[in-house]
Amino acid sequence: GVKAEIIAVGTELLLGQISNTNAQWISEQLALHGVNVFHHSVIGDNYERLTSLFSLAQDRSDLVIVTGGLGPTDDDMTREAASEILEKPIYEDAETMRNIEAYYEKNSFTMSPNNRKQARIFEGADILVNDVGMAPGMAIQKNDTLWIFLPGVPREMKAIMQHQGFPYIQQTFPNQSPIFSRMLRFIGIGESQLEHDLKDLIAAQQNPTIAPLASNGEVAIRLTAKAESEAKAKELVQVTEQQIYERVGDYVYGYDDDSIDQSVFELLKEKQFTISAAESLTGGQFVERLVTLKGASSVCNGGVVCYAKSVKENLLEVPKLIISHYGTVSEACAVSMAVNVAEKLDSNIGISFTGVAGPDEVEGHTAGTVFIGIYIDGESPFAKRFYFNGDRDMVRTKAVKKGYELLYH
Ligand code: ATP
Ligand code: MG
Repeated sequence: GVKAEIIAVGTELLLGQISNTNAQWISEQLALHGVNVFHHSVIGDNYERLTSLFSLAQDRSDLVIVTGGLGPTDDDMTREAASEILEKPIYEDAETMRNIEAYYEKNSFTMSPNNRKQARIFEGADILVNDVGMAPGMAIQKNDTLWIFLPGVPREMKAIMQHQGFPYIQQTFPNQSPIFSRMLRFIGIGESQLEHDLKDLIAAQQNPTIAPLASNGEVAIRLTAKAESEAKAKELVQVTEQQIYERVGDYVYGYDDDSIDQSVFELLKEKQFTISAAESLTGGQFVERLVTLKGASSVCNGGVVCYAKSVKENLLEVPKLIISHYGTVSEACAVSMAVNVAEKLDSNIGISFTGVAGPDEVEGHTAGTVFIGIYIDGESPFAKRFYFNGDRDMVRTKAVKKGYELLYH
């Protein structure tokens, strides 16, 4: 098989100012294309170290992908170092220069003389056009090694790889055995229950592999199959997926990049329901996540951040008696918040969050105690009590996620 490696250039990576998400993404994509990645390197903008790493890569790898350090500033020297190792002189490419000038014109920026640097290309390289920025990528072959150079900016790097880089790699190295991978996303079932229900399948797994994952109150299973074609790998995944579905399909809310927020949104849209939220400890996070989604205005009327007791009383009109008798962290208060926010904001559904984010306790309740109230038009309102582990941020995040989960069921 093809031995690939990824080199990320940038002193800011070494200083820990940014993480190497480029290598992570490229690796994941290469795996899907059936290409094995053997090394990740992070290296500073230093000429000697760059040349020695490039020469090592030339010797040991069939495919080398380099990101970063192609920019206009003087500390970017990926190009110069590679030129020495690949023994390819650099020239200024006229067409690339025109593209860069056009980009500046379109965005009304003034071009600095340094920007000419980005039009500098290795002799014999193929240009990988950048349609979301100006610095292009390059592909060049030296002996039996294919080199791909990409700008560091993740959005540009991804666009170039998707439109130009991966097709180029596939053409250069045909017949890699591809992988097909699919994530099943669950809600309302715990990790241990899920593993228990699938115990024999997990024990017997081969192709596809079955990998359970858990994070922030949600579980997922990644199925990954390898075969001689993508279609065949997909078939293998589908067979296992079906077996899993027969047992725990009720808890599947989505696939791959789906999120529970998105699934709830689709559900509300389908039923033509509108929703409003009364948020105390979550401070607007529930509404924030909904509003992030395109088209949210068709389902989300808005929300009230009712953090202080007085706002619950005065703005949301939670009866004083409820608060004095049960407290703000209570089932009764959560129910009243949900009902009142739905009425006041003219929605079919009201959801409420009240609780203790921590670290200190409130009204005698320990940190992590949260009541979530739900009112759906024409049904009797209810609230449930939860206890979430973790620090302040985790409690708030888990509460919001649980709110979406309750709405999904
Ligand atoms: P530009 O032409 O925009 O200067 P460049 O090729 O010189 O691009 P860098 O200057 O190294 O690339 O990086 C530009 C930005 O891209 C960095 O400030 C950083 O935010 C991001 N970046 C660079 N390398 C990585 C990486 N490996 N992972 C994630 N982000 C990265
Ligand atoms: Mg730069």
